[in-house]
Amino acid sequence: MSELRELIKDKKRIVVKIGSSSLQHPETGDLDYNKMEVLVRELCNMINSGKEVVLVTSGAISVGKKAVHIKDKPEEVSVKQACAAIGQARLMMIYQKIFAEYNQVAAQVLLTKYTITNAVSRRNARNTFRELLSLGVIPIVNENDTISTFEIKFGDNDTLSAIVAALIDADLLILLSDIDGLYTDNPRTNPDAEFIEVVDELTEDIMNMGKSETGSNVGTGGMNTKLTAAKIATNAGADMIIANSSDIHILHRIMDGRNFGTLFKAHKDPNFYLPEFIEHMHEGE
Ligand code: GLU
Repeated sequence: MSELRELIKDKKRIVVKIGSSSLQHPETGDLDYNKMEVLVRELCNMINSGKEVVLVTSGAISVGKKAVHIKDKPEEVSVKQACAAIGQARLMMIYQKIFAEYNQVAAQVLLTKYTITNAVSRRNARNTFRELLSLGVIPIVNENDTISTFEIKFGDNDTLSAIVAALIDADLLILLSDIDGLYTDNPRTNPDAEFIEVVDELTEDIMNMGKSETGSNVGTGGMNTKLTAAKIATNAGADMIIANSSDIHILHRIMDGRNFGTLFKAHKDPNFYLPEFIEHMHEGE
């Protein structure tokens, strides 16, 4: 076990992000209840071991779409928003049910970019997280898709989870994804792509590795958005790990200090100011 991974055991406040593609059966797009149950059990066990845990979950739009029998991925914003309104409530109902089996209280927190750029909303959100965690409750976070349009949107939950980690001074962010971690190139198209175990610093070379398309088409986040998340999390003082969600038991293996996924080391930057970073995030797009 490496010394760096040993340190993971001591992390206290942890944000775990799971994407839509990791929660669904690829064949049908319907929720994979087994995976959700393993996820909830792992998170409850993490809380039992004395950690504070926040879950950032997608799936609202795809669950809502299923509920009203829309076949294709909706393009129109209002349709996506309607699907999110339907799906978010359903998603929470399922999470609440499974968390209740472990006697764990769960809360819903929906955020937009505006929540962070507005000083009052940011303070309110931070205080709410602090209270929930001190009450032993697990906050379940998603973007407030029903009211988010481009100007107030984060765009994907990779970024959102890093923002939550920064907002609440988390020490670790775990991104559960459909890939093992960071590779020098897209491993699905380049057999010579090499796996990277640790990223000490987010150099330009590393940031360029996100440019090739590596994500699935269910969620919106490819490797590019994961590297933006790494930038936010590590600058804010949190380590970040990208790990494969194919077996969600990977969460306790990571917390045991074992070598899974790619670890991005925290470099707290005293000049990093979250609202400003977010304000300029989509410039040039
Ligand atoms: N917030 C969106 C949802 O829950 C998904 C965002 C993402 O692509 O991760 O459906």
